Amino acid sequence: MELDVLVVGAGFGGVYGVYRYRQQGLKVKCVEAAPGVGGVWYHNRYPGARCDVRSVDYSYSFSEELQKEWRWKERYSDQKEILAYIEWVVDRLDLARDIELNTRVTKAHWNASTARWEVETDNGKSYSCRFLVLATGALSSPKELDFPGLDRFKGEWYQTSKWPHHDVSFRGKNVGVIGTGSSGIQCIPVIAETAKSLKVFQRTPAFSMPARNVPLSDEELSEVRDRYMEYRHEMRTGPSGQSVPTAGPGKPYAEWDPKELVARQEANWQLGGLALGSAVTDGLVNQEANDATARFIHNKIRGIVKDPETAEALCPTDYPVSTRRPCLDTNYYETYNRDNVTLVNLRKDPMVGLTETGIRTESGDHPLDMVVFATGFDAFTGAIAHIDIRNAQGEHVMDKWKDGPRTYMGMTVSGFPNMFIVTGPGSPSVLANCIMTAEVDIDWIGDCIAWLDSKGYQTIEAEQEAQDKWVAHVSDLASHTLYPKANSWYMGDNIPGKPRVFLPYIGGLGNFVATTRAKAAADYEGFVKA
Ligand code: FAD
Ligand code: NAP
Repeated sequence: MELDVLVVGAGFGGVYGVYRYRQQGLKVKCVEAAPGVGGVWYHNRYPGARCDVRSVDYSYSFSEELQKEWRWKERYSDQKEILAYIEWVVDRLDLARDIELNTRVTKAHWNASTARWEVETDNGKSYSCRFLVLATGALSSPKELDFPGLDRFKGEWYQTSKWPHHDVSFRGKNVGVIGTGSSGIQCIPVIAETAKSLKVFQRTPAFSMPARNVPLSDEELSEVRDRYMEYRHEMRTGPSGQSVPTAGPGKPYAEWDPKELVARQEANWQLGGLALGSAVTDGLVNQEANDATARFIHNKIRGIVKDPETAEALCPTDYPVSTRRPCLDTNYYETYNRDNVTLVNLRKDPMVGLTETGIRTESGDHPLDMVVFATGFDAFTGAIAHIDIRNAQGEHVMDKWKDGPRTYMGMTVSGFPNMFIVTGPGSPSVLANCIMTAEVDIDWIGDCIAWLDSKGYQTIEAEQEAQDKWVAHVSDLASHTLYPKANSWYMGDNIPGKPRVFLPYIGGLGNFVATTRAKAAADYEGFVKA
């Protein structure tokens, strides 16, 4: 099939791409490996899954009509509601006719003589397109389960990132959860409610803050709805594409009176969400400021969790707050006070592997009926690595990324003409409201294609020098923060052998929008057009 644009992936990014490119008169199709749309929200249907950006922000911003017609029920909606929302958007905008489900792109080769991408899928379809848009997701490729003995385990086991569609019952079962990142922290309290016993196998503890999720009030909704376009513009030009209500403005650590700081932190903690860290404005660049937030959370953990040994094990001490993704929870720490819940500290008692009947750690066996793996993703590069993407020289993108991903503005790769990545490495992506970061990229790509067509150009490709400068800029920004101090998926640390590079752009969404727009306005500075 001959197309202007092939969008790969039908998550929030890809679905908007279909709408945007169709609206501008391009012939567009989207292919999605899964049997349904929704991306992350299709795949991660584990108990407790919900967004950690308020739903008034974590929803499409491009249409005031959509915003008026959909009413979120909760401040932080659950997976079911978010999936229902994106399915509704697809229906409401009549997008399904251009989305091919159950279709995984396996191969995309650039044909320099026709200036087209030739694309093949796992079900024998082929597409020829002028522009290839990889909306394949920054967090869509689950980390491989490399646990010794998993093949021998006779019980049930599930991955949060590939949760089945059938009901999973924990009732009366001895359950183990491996992983205490955002996914683990969301499912652990829910599983604990009905499991006979729950053992949490923790290697690295997380800093988690109460979400304080509530039904969405008319007042909270109208703060956004009553001045929708203005509000969304402010978010798009601000640092993170979302607003986080706080108990008051923050200031640098050195300007706080210690008692007043704790009072503010307490007020923010009571408000919930990401408010806590906002009290000190230099928390991500000043270790002392960061320590003040860490101390506050440690004290909270010690105050909530009754068993002192468990409380200490839950206190992160080897990385600064927010240098790994901070988690929002509902009753996470409280769950460890239940009689049926035990924390297994893998730092003291390392895991050996699975046996036929459970998990073995160095101290002995933990008999289990079920294991839940909440072990994360091969972030940013995993989905791209799985496609055989080749340029005219036969090189794979990953050949170019041996020492870490290299992009120009997170969206393009030198040597790969007419290929765009949505929320790619080197873009704000996961450091902001991801629906908005995807919309920003999709819009920029659409404008770029319209400009190329208006000028009669067939191809666009990042200049090597511009790309090198961008990569250096992204890494320089990160080097002035505390982020590199943590072992995290932001740095590629969770995947054995992955180069250690800070993956997202930390300069803020507003700066990213301004920079990328300025390059576009300067006739796509830093790109070779032909
Ligand atoms: P995805 O939703 O990941 O969609 C990519 C799609 O591409 C997938 O459906 C995948 O099947 C498909 N695909 C991949 N490769 C191929 C291929 N070769 N061929 C065909 N199809 C392919 N961000 C926030 O801002 N706030 C949140 O609250 C939040 N919560 C999250 C919760 C979870 C559990 C996870 C995992 C992530 C969360 N994120 C959150 C980040 C999330 O990645 C983004 O918010 C957003 O949903 C990503 O949308 P996307 O369209 O870019 O990618
Ligand atoms: P994650 O943050 O990478 O957490 C994975 C967890 O599994 C870590 O605790 C990790 O410990 C552990 N783990 C991995 N391999 C292990 C092994 N071999 N043995 C023992 N433990 C192991 O993954 P995630 O929780 O799925 O979250 C990923 C991202 O998705 C989040 O950071 C967030 O951006 C997004 N997300 C958001 C929400 C939300 O609240 N809306 C929910 C889920 C996910 P180590 O660190 O020690 O390896």
